[in-house]
Amino acid sequence: MIIMTYYMDVYGCQMNVHDSEIIAGILEADGFTNVDNPGSADVILLVSCAVREHAETRVLGRASQLGGLWQNRKQGEPLIVLCGCVAQEHGQDLLDRFQNLDLVVGPDCYRDLPLLIRNSTRQALVEFRKGDYTGIDPLRKRFPGAFVTIMRGCNNFCSYCIVPYVRGRERSRSGDSIIKEIRDLSEKGYREITLLGQNVNSYRELDTSFPELLDMASDAAGSAWIRFVTSHPRDFNRETVEVMVSKDNICNHLHLPVQSGSDGILQRMNRGYTIADYREKIRMLRDSIPEIVLTTDIITGFPGESLDDFQRTVSLLDEIRYDNAFLFKYSERTGTSAYDLADVIPEHVRLERLNYLQEFQRGITLEKSGELRNRILNVLVTGSAKKPDQQAARTRGNRMVILQGTDYEPGTFVDVRITRADGWTHFGEPVGVEDI
Ligand code: SF4
Repeated sequence: MIIMTYYMDVYGCQMNVHDSEIIAGILEADGFTNVDNPGSADVILLVSCAVREHAETRVLGRASQLGGLWQNRKQGEPLIVLCGCVAQEHGQDLLDRFQNLDLVVGPDCYRDLPLLIRNSTRQALVEFRKGDYTGIDPLRKRFPGAFVTIMRGCNNFCSYCIVPYVRGRERSRSGDSIIKEIRDLSEKGYREITLLGQNVNSYRELDTSFPELLDMASDAAGSAWIRFVTSHPRDFNRETVEVMVSKDNICNHLHLPVQSGSDGILQRMNRGYTIADYREKIRMLRDSIPEIVLTTDIITGFPGESLDDFQRTVSLLDEIRYDNAFLFKYSERTGTSAYDLADVIPEHVRLERLNYLQEFQRGITLEKSGELRNRILNVLVTGSAKKPDQQAARTRGNRMVILQGTDYEPGTFVDVRITRADGWTHFGEPVGVEDI
């Protein structure tokens, strides 16, 4: 077999990051080796994200730039392969527009990559397939953290979202294969296992629901922490909270995207819950887990968002007091139902509202992070930090902590005293190592 080298660039969400680990696993099982420089690769893969227009523009810009580097391709110059959601969305169209793209491969077709690359016939392969990537050994790059996909696709059709069109309908993985993967990861020393899916709460395989899977995952993980993303406010339920309460290794963090504080806008977004429903779930969660760290996503300037709707979002932030929030201005995506909605909000208004909300939330985040000063928290050392004399770590609540010194191996649990915070990043000094 001829050894080929590959280089990969990854864009977008955790699902894409993990897909890139799956792609690497598929390629390396077939004799490919990874290189750090696109110039010395036989094949360059771009794993693309279509969720926001900006991300799509970036990856297409990169494809075009790489195409320019190897214009009028000569023998021995790299193949360029576009994978991921943009590939699925545009398929053959991309081959017509970008003459230097060789292959366009959707998220369900990665098993075919070695053959497609070795054949090097210019084509788009973007079928939706039923299977998943069970049996593939992903090449994980985040030790001591590991992603485990529990489901692929989504059935929700939120009106602004392209995911159901590019990742297909929801498919849950077999519980047995998930639990086996978690057990293996724990035995290999992974200490933070994140269950991944577009809407993990609607996981169902035969009779196994998400809370039941979470319970089994916690047992299989041993001393490793368990996280899960992304939760949907309509499907997140009491049973899940009960499992979180009953298991020590399930992290006290919930990312629960609310998207807007206005019922009218939530309806236009097709989110399937009201603010009263959402508020009730937060109350139930905080009653059961007072130390829960709560984060969310919000979109500003969705079509039809009046000043009153926007003020409702500000009031919701003020009321819930999230520990952190990921805020975005609305970005039109062709092919989604929101694309055709009337009452488009001008770009400058979307941006003004975004800026206002960012400033507002920044104050809350700072205040809540500041409350941790002098508290002792257990953190997981994850690796090096930007400065060579520091290390990065995460709390159970998924807060980033910078530790002075380089004393600990990644994967060590350490008790630290928080000395200060800068937004979502905290600084701490170690006070002891936890035995596991
Ligand atoms: S739940 Fe909504 S926002 Fe999330 S992936 Fe599915 S359609 Fe998109």
